[in-house]
Amino acid sequence: MFKLRTLPYDLEALEPYMSAKTLEFHYGKHHQAYVDNLNKLIEGTEMAEMALEDIIRLSNKQEDKQSIFNNAAQVYNHDIFWNCLRPTSAKMEVPSALLEMINRDFGSLENMLSEFKVAAMSQFGSGWAWLVKEGDKLKIMKTANADTAFLYGVTPLLALDVWEHSYYLDYQNRRADFVSAIFDNLLNWDFAAKNAGL
Ligand code: MN
Repeated sequence: MFKLRTLPYDLEALEPYMSAKTLEFHYGKHHQAYVDNLNKLIEGTEMAEMALEDIIRLSNKQEDKQSIFNNAAQVYNHDIFWNCLRPTSAKMEVPSALLEMINRDFGSLENMLSEFKVAAMSQFGSGWAWLVKEGDKLKIMKTANADTAFLYGVTPLLALDVWEHSYYLDYQNRRADFVSAIFDNLLNWDFAAKNAGL
């Protein structure tokens, strides 16, 4: 049985950039539903005892396991996503070792964020934008719907949820405003650095 992971901050911690109302629905309803659906789908099967990553790998591109894949991958993606955000009150610089890698691979932090934003904006419909590490190199990628970056042999450093349920209550249809607000105020650079092995 999977359990909804505890949020690493209070529901109000991301205001005004992400409201408690959004977290109440996005974490408390959507993320919870992925956990509940996954548990129902794997109950009594061999997958019930497996690690989440193994369930995702084994159900990936399997026509008869599409619902399992969608729910498992969304549990995994959201587990990462909440940790990619930090409270509005917690000011944070990009750790110098990570900044060095970003400068090396993108030229500057601004270039990286601009590429990240293009990925987030050009994902048609639901999906995710990612800062990942491939070998020793950082790169930006995007995935559709529940699809998840680690299946492509990369290590996710940051995940950004661009499903409408991520921003509709606070920003309605303005995905660009949502992405900018996250980039300018809520990114957890310490988490990204830790994922990069720094
Ligand atoms: Mn979501």
